[in-house]
Amino acid sequence: MCQHALVLAPTDSDDESVVGEECHIVSGAAGGPRFDPNFPKDDVDSFGNLLLLCRIHHKQVDDQTVAFTASILRDIKVKHEVWVHETLENKPREAPKVAPVKRTRFKSEIPAQLPMVTSGKALLDLALGCFGQYPYFGDDLTDEEMDLVGGFIEAVQDWGDVLDGSEVVEIMRAGKAIDAMIVDLAEHGFLVFAAVERQRLEGGVGPSQMICLLHLSVARGSDRSVVVKEDGNEMNRG
Ligand SMILES: [Zn+2]
Repeated sequence: MCQHALVLAPTDSDDESVVGEECHIVSGAAGGPRFDPNFPKDDVDSFGNLLLLCRIHHKQVDDQTVAFTASILRDIKVKHEVWVHETLENKPREAPKVAPVKRTRFKSEIPAQLPMVTSGKALLDLALGCFGQYPYFGDDLTDEEMDLVGGFIEAVQDWGDVLDGSEVVEIMRAGKAIDAMIVDLAEHGFLVFAAVERQRLEGGVGPSQMICLLHLSVARGSDRSVVVKEDGNEMNRG
């Protein structure tokens, strides 16, 4: 990141000195930086999951995990590898063969219907550990309804991101807060539906892995059929 030398030259009488630190892109410890319960444990200490960083940048990326996500760190790693190759060989070189990151969806994993969710705990159980969301909501919402529905969808997303690996008591509190929002939505005539879809993430420098995405729909109670199309764009058909 700063291109400070992380291995200092040997002296006449000493070996070289490694002053860089090993940084895990995805921490193996629950609650650790960028921890992901779906990341294979065997890959935590693998080459693809490690960066050699100076002490300052190691501290920064482990403190600021919102800015320094796993995918951003993998990108930094690839760019640095290209820079090293070009510098060492003193001639332009093609980027190492890193497959582009791609997500594969499986028909069998795409929820045809989203079950209704009536408790915050049930919703958090689905949302925790998810990489992202497919949010669905009607296009006929009033301004007040947009605030209500949009605020709810954002809150679930935020909690899903923040709470992953958190203390049980914090998750319980968030569950209660979501309960209250579900009740509020119901009072305004809205029901909540959700399901998780597993997808395969591959490419980049990391190993391929299964990730979860949350389908979250807030639909009017009168909207009986909540259907998810394969492209993930279509939502509630009333
Ligand atoms: Zn640095």
